[in-house]
Amino acid sequence: MKIADKIEMLEVPMKLMGTHGTIYPTVIWDDEHVVHIDAGISDSKSLIKDEMDKAGVPFDKIDTILVTHQDIDHICGINCIVDELGDVKVLAHSEEKSYIQGEKPILRFKNSNIKERIKMLPEDEQQKVLDMVENTSVKVDGELSDGDKLDYGGGIVVIHTPGHTPGHICLYHEESKSLIVGDALNIEGNELVVTHRDAMSKKELIIINGWLEKLGEFDIENVIAYHTGLFKNDPNQMLKELSNSI
Ligand SMILES: [Zn+2]
Repeated sequence: MKIADKIEMLEVPMKLMGTHGTIYPTVIWDDEHVVHIDAGISDSKSLIKDEMDKAGVPFDKIDTILVTHQDIDHICGINCIVDELGDVKVLAHSEEKSYIQGEKPILRFKNSNIKERIKMLPEDEQQKVLDMVENTSVKVDGELSDGDKLDYGGGIVVIHTPGHTPGHICLYHEESKSLIVGDALNIEGNELVVTHRDAMSKKELIIINGWLEKLGEFDIENVIAYHTGLFKNDPNQMLKELSNSI
């Protein structure tokens, strides 16, 4: 879906952990660069290609992948793109780097609930998920920090939004006034919500409130959530309400 000039929200079907869903990676480009934000799982590449073709953005011009965080549904598709295209820079927050590179186990899978859920999947699906969890190692070429301004597509600002994972980032595309929130926020009905809010401690919620206020300082017309798509219902007011509710 076209968000504005030179920014597209892709709609990519994904089956993971026995569930069919849609992910919404974002592509931002200019005359010199095509930047892909998050990359699905190993079988997402051809679907991503199709979506980019439809949008008229050349897949083979992708030269940068920005990673919002370490979860498998965001990083397992990266190597497929890098292996095909060769010279692609992968950038992520410094606190996520060792997880994405496979030097530390992905945090989500320390949670025993998830281990139990994997055991309940059909055998071939179990193996696929375990493979992704245990064998994913994506080389991170550069580290991002809060406040960095990347010179792509007229400017993308990095905002550190810890909670879902320690080094989770949101990205603000200045020209289109679009905020890409990864899994930090999601859309429920007509509202934005903090992902897994019920599982957050008081201490974590205080940190989240800090970045909600920071996000609210940007002038936002579009919010793109990786699992729930596009939100346009007065995002700044929504962020204020969300922050007040914590
Ligand atoms: Zn996710």
